[in-house]
Amino acid sequence: MVRWEAVIGLEVHARLLTRSKLFCACETAFGAAPNSKVCPVCLGYPGALPVPNRTAIDLAIRVALATGCTIHAESVFARKNYFYPDLPKGYQISQFDKPLATGGSLEIATRDGAREIGIIRIHVEEDAGKLIHDATGGATDDTSLVDLNRAGTPLIEIVSAPDLRSSEEAIAYLTRLRQIVMYCDACDGNMEEGSLRCDANVSVRRPGGELGTRTEVKNLNSFRFLGRAVDFEIERQIALLERGERVVQETRLFDPAEGVTRAMRSKEEAHDYRYFPEPDLPPLVIDVESISRIREGLPEMPGPRAARYRRDFALNVEDSETLVTSRELADYFERTIAAGASARAAANWVKNEVLGSCNQCKVELRDFRVTAEMLGETISMVESSEISGKAAKEVFEAMATNGGSPREIVERLGLAQLSDRDAIRAIARRVIAANAAQVEQFRSGRTGIFGFLVGQVMKESQGRANPEIANQILRECLDTEAR
Ligand SMILES: [Zn+2]
Repeated sequence: MVRWEAVIGLEVHARLLTRSKLFCACETAFGAAPNSKVCPVCLGYPGALPVPNRTAIDLAIRVALATGCTIHAESVFARKNYFYPDLPKGYQISQFDKPLATGGSLEIATRDGAREIGIIRIHVEEDAGKLIHDATGGATDDTSLVDLNRAGTPLIEIVSAPDLRSSEEAIAYLTRLRQIVMYCDACDGNMEEGSLRCDANVSVRRPGGELGTRTEVKNLNSFRFLGRAVDFEIERQIALLERGERVVQETRLFDPAEGVTRAMRSKEEAHDYRYFPEPDLPPLVIDVESISRIREGLPEMPGPRAARYRRDFALNVEDSETLVTSRELADYFERTIAAGASARAAANWVKNEVLGSCNQCKVELRDFRVTAEMLGETISMVESSEISGKAAKEVFEAMATNGGSPREIVERLGLAQLSDRDAIRAIARRVIAANAAQVEQFRSGRTGIFGFLVGQVMKESQGRANPEIANQILRECLDTEAR
């Protein structure tokens, strides 16, 4: 068997969470009436001058710092020239040979442990408008429409090194990167609305051999499409090479309905765009003070946070990764511990009950009625044997439906666990008296019947007896008391 190795790099576009566009004061609202958020600057009127949005630059710096990139004291905006109906100026303001940041990395979890994936560069650029081709948007068979609300909204492009080797790794990388831009409050990560889009560069080679010719699959807007497009492309290229044919360098589009990629156009080279420094903007200068101010404002990132959970709380990879999915969830988990729960129990409850309940009721965690403090108190009552695990589920259900304090609910529903040894002994004696036949079987050596008798004690106590104490006392009574 001839073996092939896939070489994948991703270019991710993230829309920055600013109120206004990158070079003008127009609002960036998604879903506004077409062409209602436009002005002479983003429409490319002659004489209109761009002014950079400081917030956009700060958000870009946040992501660059979070991925360990070097921020360049001076970077340069450049014009990328091409003609397309969604680009009113006839060029896009981007960055070319002097980007904002270079040389970072992020870590992904793989089957063989963690792997570092290089980030070549992060640059700032403006988005283009949107073409509407479908009838629901008002287009007809021979007419497409142009909505320029998106023209000029701020993006960062994050270019990975060609370090990814499979579709799973590509998905793991995009997952982590999406978490990072969201932890930075730089992007909402909404792939359906196009806030995060991804192009995949794919080639195959003999392991360790020279790089093969690559193709670029554009505009993948879901993790599933990314996985399917990359897998299809790898298979397609291997089949070509094994037939003795060549891979053509080109840009391709993924068709989700058919699950295939199709050639769109021959891949353009940088020189096709006639890049030159943007004459209307001075170089972008970033001072050291603002970099350290922004660095101080960054939260702990998902990778280090998950690693800390594994180290300090002995959680496994799957649980720690689930808990860092969003900053909100990770904070909730840590507040549950702060409210008295052990880390292991908090992890289980958050992962199963909290996420399950939010999913089922279709509520966001921030609107969920059971706060971390309420959950922490409930768990700590289980851990101090005040209530049983089963009772805790009831308390949780009650809180999720109607709110309320866990202690009040325990009292109202009579869920407090019975740990009083005398009370349990009294119940055990009643059970022994009422089940003479089973007691006789137990004493004649059929010890398997013990479980049944414990069950009777639990039943008699309406499930409230502390099972451990019930077990112990029943055994004592059976062993030592008068026959
Ligand atoms: Zn504008």
